[in-house]
Amino acid sequence: MPGFELFGEKEKSQVQDVLDSGVLMRYGFDGMRNNHWKAFELEVALTKRMESKYAQLVSSGTAALTVALASAGIGAGDEVIMPTFTFVASFESILAIGAIPILVDVDDTLTLDPVAVENAITDKTKVVMPVHMCGSMADLSALKAICDKHDLLLLEDACQAIGGSFEGKPLGSYGDLGCFSFDYVKTITCGEGGALITNNEAYKTNADHYSDHGHDHVGNNRGTETHPFLGYNFRISELNAAVGCAQIERLDDFLDIQQKHYGVIRKELETLPNIEFRRVPNGGVENYSFISFFLPSTAIAKKAHTALGEAGIDACFYWFDNNWHYYKKWEHLIQKKSLGKLPQEVLNQLPDYTKTDFSKSDAWIGRTISCLIKLSWTDEQVAERAATMKEVLARFA
Ligand SMILES: *Cc1c(COP(=O)(O)O)cnc(C)c1O
Repeated sequence: MPGFELFGEKEKSQVQDVLDSGVLMRYGFDGMRNNHWKAFELEVALTKRMESKYAQLVSSGTAALTVALASAGIGAGDEVIMPTFTFVASFESILAIGAIPILVDVDDTLTLDPVAVENAITDKTKVVMPVHMCGSMADLSALKAICDKHDLLLLEDACQAIGGSFEGKPLGSYGDLGCFSFDYVKTITCGEGGALITNNEAYKTNADHYSDHGHDHVGNNRGTETHPFLGYNFRISELNAAVGCAQIERLDDFLDIQQKHYGVIRKELETLPNIEFRRVPNGGVENYSFISFFLPSTAIAKKAHTALGEAGIDACFYWFDNNWHYYKKWEHLIQKKSLGKLPQEVLNQLPDYTKTDFSKSDAWIGRTISCLIKLSWTDEQVAERAATMKEVLARFA
């Protein structure tokens, strides 16, 4: 997955442009900047590649989720449905705006189970936030039908699946809002950065203001702008955006490499009777940043994961025991531990996650192993890796 594996001349020359102009700020300084607007350029490139009307770059994927929620007017007491298997950023962004993260089960897509989503809806629910984990997507058509029926917003976290698609639409563009991360380990990187995309002009305008202190960016005289509402600083710097300008041009090449490597490994593993692959919903095309599969039981999956590591197969993950990505080990959320006091309303409304039943998620994630697909592998390395994986996994029937 990581785009950093393939930094080259394009990234260097983009960054050099910014340093030569001396303007590291994305707004203003029109006279000095020698017409370099890297953040704006990357936004335009994103709207084209992601077939969306608007894009707003921000400082991280977590910021993109926060700004996306805020831009749609989500706030105190609103409930946002999110999966048990994701990255901690999901509930961080929800809590950041005073809303309530409602965790629900995942299914064999490793993303939101539409049935569990529908069961979790209350009169406070405002948003369904699927997370397209490990390069593949939630069943967006089922989730959209639920959102339409209950008048909810569909916000796609496509941070790990950039370049994948659903029913011919780029992931992130199917819902009302979509978010990407360009942190250091994502398929394309800015070092740090993120973006939201939308076709809704009001959300774009709100996101633009909210991510820069509420400045309305009217006129070019910074300091005389007005502030229609409170905002924060979630700006990206021109240096980071410049790296992204180079990387987005290479996205389709990166996807081709990932798909090729994935295909070689998948072909080997498909011959094993004890392996089932993660389900990709009808209409979905993965971005092939990971290959994810199920072993016959949790106990077997744990052993198989250890054996892969011992055989030198790096970058395979057993998410069930992972404290970044699976709810079981989010002790800070479960115990409602914040540095300062959380608002009383949040404390009251946040479910008691020591008591919730996510046995359905446990049954799928407990059996799952996901292996990263790296861009820098040679064909020989992939072939060797696929053969070793097959040999190791065959022992765990
Ligand atoms: C990386 C990631 C994020 C957050 O992105 P940052 O840029 O690291 O803040 C959010 N969601 C998912 C699924 C991610 O993988």
